[in-house]
Amino acid sequence: MGTVSEYFGKLVFDDRVMKANLSAKVYQSLKKTIDDGAKLDISVANAVASAMKDWAIANGATHYTHWFQPLTGITAEKHDSFISPSPDGGVIMEFSGKELIKGEPDASSFPSGGLRATFEARGYTAWDPTSYAFIKGKTLCIPTAFCSYGGEALDKKTPLLRSMEALSKQAIRILRLFGNDSVKCVRTSVGPEQEYFLVDKEMYDRRRDLIFTGRTLFGAKPPKGQEMDDHYFGVIKPRVEAYMQELNDELWKLGILAKTEHNEVAPAQHELAPIYTTTNIATDHNQLTMEIMQKVAAKHGLVCLLHEKPFAGVNGSGKHNNWSLATDSGVNLLSPGETPYENAQFLLFLCAVIKAVDDYQDLLRISVATAGNDHRLGANEAPPAVVSIFLGDELNAVIEAIEKDVPYNAAAKTKMKLGVDVLPKFNRDTTDRNRTSPFAFTGNKFEFRMLGSSNSIACANIMLNSAVAESLKIYADRLEQAEVFETALHEMIRKTIKDHKRIIFNGNGYDDSWIKEATEQRGLLNYRTTPDCMPHLLDKKNVDMLTSQKVFSEAELKSRCEIMLDNYCKTVRIEADTMIDMARTEITPAIEAYATELARAAAAKKALAADIPCTYETSLVQKLSSLTDRITQKISELEQALLDLASAEDIIAEGYAIRDTVLVKMSELRIACDEAEIVTAKKYWPFPTYGDLLFGVK
Ligand code: ADP
Ligand code: MG
Repeated sequence: MGTVSEYFGKLVFDDRVMKANLSAKVYQSLKKTIDDGAKLDISVANAVASAMKDWAIANGATHYTHWFQPLTGITAEKHDSFISPSPDGGVIMEFSGKELIKGEPDASSFPSGGLRATFEARGYTAWDPTSYAFIKGKTLCIPTAFCSYGGEALDKKTPLLRSMEALSKQAIRILRLFGNDSVKCVRTSVGPEQEYFLVDKEMYDRRRDLIFTGRTLFGAKPPKGQEMDDHYFGVIKPRVEAYMQELNDELWKLGILAKTEHNEVAPAQHELAPIYTTTNIATDHNQLTMEIMQKVAAKHGLVCLLHEKPFAGVNGSGKHNNWSLATDSGVNLLSPGETPYENAQFLLFLCAVIKAVDDYQDLLRISVATAGNDHRLGANEAPPAVVSIFLGDELNAVIEAIEKDVPYNAAAKTKMKLGVDVLPKFNRDTTDRNRTSPFAFTGNKFEFRMLGSSNSIACANIMLNSAVAESLKIYADRLEQAEVFETALHEMIRKTIKDHKRIIFNGNGYDDSWIKEATEQRGLLNYRTTPDCMPHLLDKKNVDMLTSQKVFSEAELKSRCEIMLDNYCKTVRIEADTMIDMARTEITPAIEAYATELARAAAAKKALAADIPCTYETSLVQKLSSLTDRITQKISELEQALLDLASAEDIIAEGYAIRDTVLVKMSELRIACDEAEIVTAKKYWPFPTYGDLLFGVK
C-alpha cells in the first residue's frame, strides 16, 4: 500500500488534485468560491465536474452521489451512475456541472417535521464546495446541503454553514475595532474525540436488544466491571489493534487525520481523535468516521457500538467537541497572545463565549439531547445536565481580578488595565484532567463535553456558533459607538464577568452539592431529560436569537423541535417493544426451563429417599417462580404504559409520558429480569451476559 504520506487523502478530490487536474483559470475561480463564498459560474462547474468524474473513474468509481445529512442524524446518499447511452449503442461516462451543483433525490420520506408539506413535496441537494468530494467504495460522494424548494433547511449542514457565516460576520466587526483591516473571514475549528465500544459480532448477533436498539436492555452487573481502572490507557489487545490499524488506513485514505487511539475507562471501550479542522469539514469527517468505524469492525468479526450507553452501570460513550475560532490567516482568537493588545482581544472573545454559554445554556443542552444521551448526562460518568464553564485556576484568577479591579496576583503590583498589561502565560490546567466540566477552557480552545457518542456534532456547533455570534454582535454594536474604545472595552469585559460569573465553576461537576448550588443559588438550568429541554427550543429568546442571526427560520425551529421529540419517543418505544419481546420469548422461557430442571431434580431425589429435604431446589424454584410472575406482571404494566401513550395530545405530552411512565416501567422490568439472571444457571440464559460482552474480545 505504500507509506502513509503516499496514500493519505488518496480518495479525496482535494486541493492537490484540483491543482493538478483543473486549468489555472478554473482552479482560481473555484478557490474564490471555496475561500470567499463567491458565486460559482456554470462553465466553471462544468469543468470541475468533468475533472472530478475523470479522477473518480481513474480511481475505480462508477457512480456518484450527493451525500447529505438529513435530520435522522445519519448520512444519506442516492447513487446515480455516470453512464449515459451513446448514439452508437455503447455508453459514455458523463457528469455535468449541473449534476455536481444540484441534485433532486426522491427523499420525501426523510423527517421534515411538516416543513416539506408547507412548501414542496421534494427537497433538493446543493453542493458544499468547502468540503472536498471523496470516493467511498465505487461511489464519488459529493458533500451537499439538503433544502426544500422554499429554501428551508431539511438537514444539519445548512444551519451549520449559516451559523459559521453568522459568527464570522460578527467576529470580523470586532477585529476591525481592534485595527485588523485585512481579516476576510473567521472560521471555527473542531476536533471531536470519539468514544466507542467494540464487541464480538457473534455475541452481538445473539442479542436482539443490541441489534434493534444499539444498547443492552438487560444485563446483570458482571463480577468485574471497570472498578480496577486497568483498561484505561492499558495495552491494546491484538484484535483491537488490528482493527484500529485498518480503521486508520481507511480514514487516512479519506483525508481524515485520525491521530490518537487509546483504550477508555470501561472495558471494551476505546477512543479515536482526529486533528481538528474547519467545523463543517470536521462534521462531515465525523459522520464518515462513524460509518467507517462500523464497516471496518464488521471485517474483523466485531461490532462497533456508538450508542451513548450500551451497558448500564458501565461508563457510556461521549464525544468531546474541541472548539476554537481563527482568522483566515490562522490566528487563533482563543489563544492568549504575546502582547497586551492581543490579550485584550483574547479576553473579549473569552467573555463572548462566557456570555454565550450563560445566556444560551438551554440551547447547548438541547443540542445534545437524545434518548441515548439522557442515560449519560448527570450519571456521574459524564458532565451533569447543568451547563457550566471551567476556566482553570490561572485564568480564573485573572477574571476575578478584573471583576474586583485588583491585581491578579500578589506579585503583580499593578491592576489589570486592558490594552496595557501583559497577561501571564496560561498553562493548560492539569486539574482539568478530572473531566467533570461540561465546557472547559483547555489552553487555546474550549472543550464541550456533553455530546453523546452517536450525536452529529453539527447540532452542538450550530448552537455554539450562533450564541457566540450573538454575544459578539452585542459587543460590536456597543463598541462601534464608543467614544473611547479602551474604556468601553474594559467596562464591557468587567460587566460580562459580573453578569455571567455564575456560569463559571471550577470544582467537581459530579458532586451532588454542585447541582444544588447551581440550581438553588446560581439559578442555572438543570434539564435532566430530552422532554424537559426540547420544548424550550421554541422559547421566545431562543427563536429571536436564532432567527435574527439567520441560522434558522421559525418554521425550521418548530419542525426540528417536533422531529427531535418524535425521535425520542420512537427510540424509547422501540426499546420498550424489544424488552417486552425478549422478556416474554427468551427470558421467561429460560427461567422456566431451569426451574423445571430443578423441580425434576428434586422429584428424582425424593423418589430415591423421601426424607431428602431438597431445600436448595425448593427455595430456588420458589424464587424463580415468583420472579417469572413478577416479570409477567411488569410486562403487562409496560404494555399498558405504551397503550396509554395513545391518549397523549401532542408530541410534547407523549415525551413526558414516556419519561414518567414507559421508562419507569422499563426499568422495573429490567430489575426483575436482571435478578433472575443472577440465579439462573448460565447454560440456560438465552444470550451473552455483560461479562461475555465486555471481556469477550481478546
Ligand atoms: P485531550 O483532550 O484528550 O487531552 P488534546 O487536547 O490533545 O486531547 O486534543 C483533543 C482534540 O482537540 C484533538 O482532536 C485536537 O486536534 C483538538 N484541538 C487541538 N487544538 C484545537 C483547536 N485550536 N481548535 C479545535 N480543536 C483543537
Ligand atoms: Mg478531550
